[in-house]
Amino acid sequence: MEKTEKITIIGSGPAGYTAAIYAARAGLIPLMVSGLEQGGQLMITTDVENYPGFENPIQGPWLMEQMKNQAKAFGTKIILDHVKEIKIESRPFELLTENSSIKSHTVIIATGAKARWLNIKGEQEFMGLGVSACATCDGFFFKDKEVAVVGGGNTAVEEALFLSNLCKRVNLIHRRDKLRAEKILQDRLFQKKNVNFIWDSNVTQVIGNTNEKKITSIILTNKNNKISELPIDGLFVAIGHSPATSLFKNKVKMDNEGYIFTEPDSTKTSVEGVFAAGDVTDRIYRQAVTAAGMGCMSAIEAESFLNFKKLI
Ligand code: FAD
Ligand code: NAP
Repeated sequence: MEKTEKITIIGSGPAGYTAAIYAARAGLIPLMVSGLEQGGQLMITTDVENYPGFENPIQGPWLMEQMKNQAKAFGTKIILDHVKEIKIESRPFELLTENSSIKSHTVIIATGAKARWLNIKGEQEFMGLGVSACATCDGFFFKDKEVAVVGGGNTAVEEALFLSNLCKRVNLIHRRDKLRAEKILQDRLFQKKNVNFIWDSNVTQVIGNTNEKKITSIILTNKNNKISELPIDGLFVAIGHSPATSLFKNKVKMDNEGYIFTEPDSTKTSVEGVFAAGDVTDRIYRQAVTAAGMGCMSAIEAESFLNFKKLI
């Protein structure tokens, strides 16, 4: 007879690995389908300074390798594969990957989210070398320097507020002449003396020095097609995030942007036995430590579900 897993974790970022560590230590021998980006978003960054437990900066890929080793040490089975389809109406649940079919009593969704990028010349090349999508993560590297934030929503304004307390000058660049952020946030930003607003403009290129591994300026194009160059040390792209949830559309409840709904103070989704942890359900904090925290919660909740249903 085909084996049924007790817990299958989809995704191998901080949420997925933490769920795996807790589930494995509970003796549940979880199965993790790592996805194509094994290790998740932190694999594309360098210094991480805000994950607790480390006095000195650590490297994102190193941290994820430690999490993977810890999860494996307690017995997590990891397969390098990608979930293509989930049959959520069947019990046990059925997951179809590129290479296999998995049956599982519970599923933890930890597929994360991706920052939206401008897709302009120089953006990918200088990612982590001056181009970032997270001021909380990378703002400190630009202390007393000049930076720019792109976007006009809550995230852009919050990023600009955060950076204004650290940086010499913050340029907020928006493609229209009105911000869409909440008024209270806008008012706070308008009061900042070191914030410069550049309206009706798009960033069309990032220029930097590859040898020195830093950016030096950006090219702006305004609505009249006037082109200008702005010297800066850091560019923060804050034009929204997309959760990786297309797979679960019409299967678990989501908000209109695709973030999975969970019950308050819980990782339970609208489907009994399916849990969601990390950036896939979090439109506000989006940090490795919050994702890890939710991963822990999801494994504990999955274990109690299995106990309650007498499946272990
Ligand atoms: P993710 O890390 O996004 O992982 C998602 C996982 O799901 C991936 O492994 C992916 O392969 C997998 N997946 C997706 N779809 C499927 C599928 N269909 N089948 C199987 N697997 C799938 N946070 C901090 O706290 N400090 C920092 O310094 C910091 N720096 C950052 C720098 C950068 C450049 C970026 C992009 C983010 C940074 N963050 C930082 C944010 C942090 O990386 C995220 O909050 C965190 O990684 C979210 O973890 P997660 O486990 O929810 O998802
Ligand atoms: P958002 O509200 O979708 O705003 C994205 C911004 O980026 C918009 O101003 C948009 O311009 C701009 N933009 C989009 N694509 C662009 C492109 N290619 N080039 C240039 N600019 C581009 O995204 P968000 O700010 O990340 O917020 C997402 C959700 O989370 C919102 O519902 C928000 O309220 C919520 N959130 C809440 C808080 C909070 O409550 N404190 C904090 C953060 C986020 P236009 O305005 O012209 O469309």
